[in-house]
Amino acid sequence: MQKFIDGIKKFQSEIYPNHKERFEALANSQAPDVLFITCSDSRIDPNLITSSDPGELFICRNAGNIVPPHSNETGGMTASIEYAVSVLNVEHVVICGHSNCGAMKAAMQPESVNKLPHVKVWLDHCRAAKEAVEHEHGHLHDEHLDEVTKQNIILQLNHLATHPAVFKKLHTKELKLHGWVYDIETGRIEAYDAQQKRFIEI
Ligand code: ZN
Repeated sequence: MQKFIDGIKKFQSEIYPNHKERFEALANSQAPDVLFITCSDSRIDPNLITSSDPGELFICRNAGNIVPPHSNETGGMTASIEYAVSVLNVEHVVICGHSNCGAMKAAMQPESVNKLPHVKVWLDHCRAAKEAVEHEHGHLHDEHLDEVTKQNIILQLNHLATHPAVFKKLHTKELKLHGWVYDIETGRIEAYDAQQKRFIEI
């Protein structure tokens, strides 16, 4: 933990002074353009990979970059999406999955999380992605991880569109949805092209 305490001191003495005006401008309000939904995985830094600054991305993270379909049950994701879209008026939502995702591996082998009841229920929101890949190939192996990861991004984009705040702004074209997959090793990002039904490198 000392590393992080030292990090705070370094931020305050070296980094903050260089961006003082930006932080002061952000003190009382935010106006991000993008709701960025990604995995909790420690290897992803949304601001770093998009070269963006504080105040530009409204970020929601969870295991597997999952958006539960809309229901009348309130959850953190549902409330954050509603706020970002209806109050902050973001113009874009990005769902960003990534390579080597532990959540996707667990979703492919649900029995591996039998002793983690909450994880097991949460990852059931990915089951359709896993089943789509399994259905296509007639079986499911470790080598299908990237395909499941991509199918999951498409699935979560579909879930996102069931949220009333999102659906109504898609209808009026005030909101655009984007599906990205980030490769940790190479830094490459592919984006889903809905017309071509495939991921294309940005
Ligand atoms: Zn992950």
